[in-house]
Amino acid sequence: MINTINKIGVIGAGTMGNGIAHVFALFGSHVKLIDIDNQILTQAIGIIEKNLGRQVKKEIITEEQAKSALKRIETSVLLNSLESIELVIEAVSENRKIKETVFKELDQICRKDAILASNTSSISITEIAAITKRPEQVIGVHFMNPVPVMQLVEIIRGYATSDRTFNRVKDVIEAIEKVPVSVNDYPGFVSNRILMPFINEAIFCLMEGVADKEAIDDVMKLGMNHPMGPLTLADFIGLDVCLDIMNVLYEGLGDPKYRPCPLLKKMVAAGHLGRKTKIGFYNYD
Ligand code: NAD
Repeated sequence: MINTINKIGVIGAGTMGNGIAHVFALFGSHVKLIDIDNQILTQAIGIIEKNLGRQVKKEIITEEQAKSALKRIETSVLLNSLESIELVIEAVSENRKIKETVFKELDQICRKDAILASNTSSISITEIAAITKRPEQVIGVHFMNPVPVMQLVEIIRGYATSDRTFNRVKDVIEAIEKVPVSVNDYPGFVSNRILMPFINEAIFCLMEGVADKEAIDDVMKLGMNHPMGPLTLADFIGLDVCLDIMNVLYEGLGDPKYRPCPLLKKMVAAGHLGRKTKIGFYNYD
């Protein structure tokens, strides 16, 4: 297997962080996985083990590969254990304050030539980079969920990101057999700039009585060959996440075409957030 990065740091061991750690370890990197407490880290290792096992069952990897990948993941609650690492990928909660604190600390801890990357879905890479003293070495790497399965990684260049940083990260993403797509730093990047207004429009259709929820989903599934309809997808992503991203587009681009649908706002206010609350557009009880 190609191994262009020997040691990588992943911060945040949630949904995305554990997936990113999983994939890099599988491709030969030594991964330092960081979170705020050991219980979360133990849980994350359990999830990675289960997901590796799933790949073994599907004969995508061998049992031996799964075992050695797991051995290459080391956990810690200490950011300063990343001081010798060449590339750090931050995947902490989507909260600007938390990310700013993490990047400030990383800038002090990490070696001078280290690249600091963020997996943020919506926060400006240019703004994150400006917090550090190395904005040319800060970049967005937007993996898709579930990371071990999805091929795409949007690579987002902040205003100051250097070609050197971009090329290095592109090589690393190709080495883990993902497909990097180069994107500039504008609200929602490309993925959410297109996906979220699509979901939002489906919610407008529902609110205005253009069709019922099943019909809206069927049109997009059967007519456009989408694997799931937009309302099912919104429930899967979480309606709160959809609303947050619509607000980022609305505020960041200042165009009324991005206004969040009032029905989306009302459902979030009611706590009907989709699968995670067992109710959204559909009932999951
Ligand atoms: P998550 O809530 O599952 O995980 C976040 C983890 O970060 C948690 O385990 C939390 O304990 C940890 N954390 C919080 N503060 C920390 C700190 N100071 N230091 C270390 N760890 C800390 O979130 P997620 O869904 O994995 O999302 C992570 C990032 O990836 C977000 O920026 C999100 O926008 C982005 N993203 C998510 C998806 C998705 O579908 N879930 C897809 C693409 C990108």
